[in-house]
Amino acid sequence: MQSLTFAAATVATGSGVSQDLQDWTDRITTLAYLVAALLFILALAGLSRQQSAARGNYFGIAGMAIALVATVFKAAVQSHADPDHYNDAWVTVLLVAVAMLIGAVIGVARARRVEMTGMPELIAMLHCFVGLAAVLIGVNSFIHAGSSAEAGYEKFHLGEVYLGIFIGAVTFTGSIIAYLKLSGKMKGAPLALPGRNLLNLAIIVITLVGMVFFILTGTEEADSKPVAWTILGVMLVLALALGLHLVAAIGGGDMPVVVSMLNSYSGWAAAAAGFMLANPLLIITGALVGSSGAYLSFIMCKAMNRSFISVILGGFGSETTAGGDDHDYGAHTEITPEETADLLRHAHKVMITPGYGMAVAQAQYPVAELVRKLRADGVDVSFGIHPVAGRLPGHMNVLLAEAKVPYDIVHEMDEINDDFGDVDVVLVIGANDTVNPIAEEPGSPIAGMPVLKVWNAHHVIVFKRSMGAGYAGVQNPLFFMDNTDMLLGDAKQSVEKITAAL
Ligand code: NDP
Repeated sequence: MQSLTFAAATVATGSGVSQDLQDWTDRITTLAYLVAALLFILALAGLSRQQSAARGNYFGIAGMAIALVATVFKAAVQSHADPDHYNDAWVTVLLVAVAMLIGAVIGVARARRVEMTGMPELIAMLHCFVGLAAVLIGVNSFIHAGSSAEAGYEKFHLGEVYLGIFIGAVTFTGSIIAYLKLSGKMKGAPLALPGRNLLNLAIIVITLVGMVFFILTGTEEADSKPVAWTILGVMLVLALALGLHLVAAIGGGDMPVVVSMLNSYSGWAAAAAGFMLANPLLIITGALVGSSGAYLSFIMCKAMNRSFISVILGGFGSETTAGGDDHDYGAHTEITPEETADLLRHAHKVMITPGYGMAVAQAQYPVAELVRKLRADGVDVSFGIHPVAGRLPGHMNVLLAEAKVPYDIVHEMDEINDDFGDVDVVLVIGANDTVNPIAEEPGSPIAGMPVLKVWNAHHVIVFKRSMGAGYAGVQNPLFFMDNTDMLLGDAKQSVEKITAAL
């Protein structure tokens, strides 16, 4: 959706408008945009449930195809009807087609190659393109205004340009930092500059004051235009710095909220581009992405027990200590796959809590096979899914659905978190932060984040390769508890060995 929004924004810049065919073309395009907008709403509705997610995707693809065809069609018809700019306009359409072709080839190649574990950074990268598109469209819009013969360039439009560039620039650099953090190319620890909240506030105040002066100086008069360009330049640099700072200041464990927040920002950036281009579909699409991203951020904030406002301001994470926890929790005990099989054979109730390691190991298929075997033997097996397990909202649900695990045995954290006391064996497959009891201790880097209370079960078995910390870089006392055994090794191989032993 992000990349297509970017493409639509770029396509919509095509110019060459003639009055003759304008009305007719406008009517057809408006109708197509309306259908596309409805399809986008159906897409979002479909994506909100696993069972209808694939259908939702098809609605989205159909909507975007209609939107792109209608936008290019409009540019083509308008250019054809404008004899003065006939050649220029067709060159524009041709360039758009070539750009779309190159983009589509790169996009398809990248999408085919990307691993499920690489999706979060890919999405961060796509958000960054939407931000960049909004900045470029804004600058182009202002350049165009300068060379236009129109008298009295609307002040309202100047405000749109200014805000569009600001949101786009924040999204652009914020997404680059998110990409670097999610791909492990940059350390996850929060950047804690002294007085960082004041710094953010100062940038926002300067930006708002700058907006007033920009609107006053950005009009047609040649005298004040250089001043407006200077203000725009300063704001651009500040907005780029703000995007960097907002995301760099967020600690590893809080990154899920940042991803959904940038998703929302990219939507608002696209909507801003829609205003600048007077393209209603881009406004609608941007608003849909922006508001659904904001709602997702709200849900994630609730799941992570964070304040929504402080997330928007990049303010959370500052109260915690950066880095890890070197407390000595004593010795851990280990278990073999054969011993685990034996435990499972005698269990009545088994709960599986998967995490990012299951995605890395691609263990979902052997896990599904193990579940089928246990259920066939009469064991009550279910899954407990933490809302931020993995690296994407819904990451575990997607993997389990892919492996054909029945939906009715997959439960959200809130539904099962009080039931662990009745569970005989919990299999923690590649999860770490989401089952870390230290979250219940004030002052820890993940303090306040609700976690799966697996330690209340009779027996906990943790599948991972080492005793290393999870994404947030915090040691996990669960590994050293009396009722916990570590099954060290690749999760896929461990699960396969258990199934074989069963
Ligand atoms: P974690 O990232 O905390 O831990 C995953 C564990 O999997 C690691 O400790 C690792 O240990 C283990 N692992 C990795 N590869 C394998 C393998 N092949 N076989 C077995 N184990 C493996 O996972 P959680 O899912 O519990 O937590 C998710 C974290 O990611 C949270 O901090 C969350 O905030 C953050 N996050 C979530 C996002 C989301 O939207 N869901 C987005 C961005 C961040 P070892 O190396 O020893 O094997």
